[in-house]
Amino acid sequence: MIVDLHIHTNLGSICSQLGPDELLERAQQLGIDAVCVTEHHSHRGANKMVEYAAGSGYPVFRGVEIYTELGDMLVYGLKRETRYHLTTFEELVEMAEEDGAVIIPAHPCRGWGRQHRHPHIFPQEVLGHIVAIETHNGANTIRSNEAAAAIAEEFGLLGTGGSDAHAIWQVGKCVTVFEREIAGEEELVQELREGRFFPAYLEDLMKNAG
Ligand SMILES: [Zn+2]
Ligand SMILES: [Zn+2]
Repeated sequence: MIVDLHIHTNLGSICSQLGPDELLERAQQLGIDAVCVTEHHSHRGANKMVEYAAGSGYPVFRGVEIYTELGDMLVYGLKRETRYHLTTFEELVEMAEEDGAVIIPAHPCRGWGRQHRHPHIFPQEVLGHIVAIETHNGANTIRSNEAAAAIAEEFGLLGTGGSDAHAIWQVGKCVTVFEREIAGEEELVQELREGRFFPAYLEDLMKNAG
C-alpha cells in the first residue's frame, strides 16, 4: 500500500497552498493508495481533511508535525491536541508514550550541504524514542535525503517517505510503501511500529512497475 506520509493542506497550515479538493484528486491520479495529513502543531486541518474525504471513500490518515529543540518531528497516533509553541522532545516523548503514538524525525538533514559551513549534528538523544527517520522528503534536496539515508544506515533505523507537500505539484513525490493494507490510524501506527514498510520516490516505483 502506497502512502504519502507527510502532507500540509491549507485547511491547517498557513504555509500551504494545497486545497483538500486538489489533494484528493492528485493523490488518486498518481495512484497513491492513501495520504496522511500532517499539519504543523495541530490535528485541526487533518480532522477537516478526514471529514472532507469521508464521502469519497479515499483513505486519509492523520498525523502531526511538531517543532522541538531536536528538530521537526512527525507524530502518528497522538490522541490529543498539541500547543503551537515549542514542545520539548522530552515532552513529546511523554505524550507519545501515553497515547501510544510513534515519532519519526522529519527531514533530519535538511540544510546539510556544501553551502552550510556548520552542518547540524544528528541528535542522538532521539534514538530509542523513534521508530524510523524520514529519509525521503519531497521538499528536500537529494543531498539532504542521502545524508538522512546514511544516518539511517549508521544507526540501523528504517526510513520513511513523504512529500512534505505544500502545493499540488509536490504531492506524492516521496512515499512509504507498506507491506500490508492499512484501514485506519491505529493500523498505520502499528505498521510503523512493526517496521513493515520502505521509503521510495514515486517516480522510481512507477518506473520499476513498468
Ligand atoms: Zn509548512
Ligand atoms: Zn512538513
